[in-house]
Parts: sequence; C-alpha cells; structure tokens
Amino acid sequence: MTTKKLKNIFPIDLYLKVLDEIPDTFGVYTFYHNERPIYIGKSIHLRERIISHFQQAKTDAKERKITQQATHLGWELAAGEYSALLRESTLIKKHLPIFNRKLRRQKSLHFMVLEADDMGYLRPKIKSTERVFDAKLDGYGPFRNQRHRLNLLNQLVSKHQLCAVMLGVEHTKSCFNYQVKRCQGACVGKESAVSHNQRLLSALETYMQQKWVYQTPMMFYEHDKKNHLKQCHFVDRWRYLGVETTTETDSTLDMMPSTQFDLDHYLLLKKIFSDEKIKKIKVPEDIALPI
Ligand SMILES: [Zn+2]
Repeated sequence: MTTKKLKNIFPIDLYLKVLDEIPDTFGVYTFYHNERPIYIGKSIHLRERIISHFQQAKTDAKERKITQQATHLGWELAAGEYSALLRESTLIKKHLPIFNRKLRRQKSLHFMVLEADDMGYLRPKIKSTERVFDAKLDGYGPFRNQRHRLNLLNQLVSKHQLCAVMLGVEHTKSCFNYQVKRCQGACVGKESAVSHNQRLLSALETYMQQKWVYQTPMMFYEHDKKNHLKQCHFVDRWRYLGVETTTETDSTLDMMPSTQFDLDHYLLLKKIFSDEKIKKIKVPEDIALPI
C-alpha cells in the first residue's frame, strides 16, 4: 500500500475547482459517502478517469448514483499500471464498496485435476484450493464455483466434441451427443482413451493453473521516475504479500492482513509474472515477510 492516506478530500460540489490538482498519471481513487468508500477505481489517467464519472453521470444511472451520493473524493498515485491494479483490488476487498460489483471477497474456489479411470480415460476431479498450489500437480482453474466449472466443461463438450459422460456433465451410459453423432464415442468405447485424453488435454490447455516455479518469495517493482515513486510488490506462491512504497522523502512497508490465496490477486499476478518487461527478483533475506 502507498505511504500516504487518501488525501485532498473535499466536498464534491467543489470538484471543478480542484480536479486540476489531480495528476493525470497512474493511480487509484475513492468516492466516499462521508467516511465510507462507495466506489473505488483505478486508471492510468487518473484525472481523466475521475472527470469521466461526472460526465457519464448525465446519461448513466449508476454513475449518477455514485457522483450524487459521494460527499468526498480521494486519490493516490501508483508507480505503474500493475501497482494501480493491485492497490485497487486490495482496497476493494478491504472496504467492499456498494458500487463495486466485481472484485468481491472469495470464499471458496474449485480446482480440477484429471485422473485416469479403470479404462485409462482421464476424468475431471475437484480439488480444494490450498493443496493444489503447493503440490506438484497439474491442476486446472481456479473456478469461482461449481457452476463456473461445469459451464466450462459443457463448453468444451460442444466446442471440441468431447464426451459429456467422460467429462462428468452427463450421467448416462452413452452421452446424448453420441446419439446425434457429435461425440466420437468414448462413452461406448469407440474412441480410444489415448485419443480422447489427447483431445481433452489440448482443449484444457489454456485453463491450466500456473505453477509457482520459484523456490523463494519473489518481488517485482514499478518505478515512475517522473513522479519519484517506486513500488515494490512481494509475492509468495501466488499469494500477494504487500508492497513497499518509496517516495522522494520516505519509504513505507504495507503488508496484507491475510496471506490467503485470493482469486483476483492470482489472476492479476499471473498476468504480471508472464509479462517479460517486469523483472522478477528473489526477495532478500533481510526483508521480513508474513509467510
Ligand atoms: Zn460420449
């Protein structure tokens, strides 16, 4: 988290006079109703994005509610796009603002692994979250819930002509698609395990969970030289641990209250760790991390 609290708080009816103060760079902003955050957002053009809320309020009912209910506005700068994304997600999870519908706290997640049955056909099985990340297991997901997982399997069945019985979404002897010639017959032994397994593995490839390949916690940083802001983020086994923010005058370490696995952070971190422009560095041992 950044070193400064949300600053420059002012009555919203004065917004036109002060929007000029907001730098048009990476950052996170909060609309408050008195002390309570009601909407949190991020942008790579902070000022422009905040102004757009007021402009859209003329035609959009949700934007109108946000800007009318807001009594205060706060903002803070971030050292880059990823820093802004991580900060936004962290703040939303902390405050659960009423107008942020998406990034909500995650209660339970589903992972899936493939296990061969007696005939050698790979069948999806559900696994719990924590185990999968620590094991050297090829898992798929995560999925927000059971329905999310079944939706994907149903899509794979129709898109790749896979067998619904083998994927566990139909519980009959032979699947419906076999009768209409859209399943190649794994359910009745016409398609071999080798062939169906191969097609299933390739259909699922993009849903494979990213393995944590490092032996230690890792860090990466973003540096906004123009605004003299550097933010260094700490990660361990896809858990986001916190951030060190360094400005011209000081440096602060902000650690997450919980280091539980979180789906939104995982999806963000996965993207960041596959971005070659971002250098991943081993965390020096003298930095105390909450792990
Ligand atoms: Zn079938």
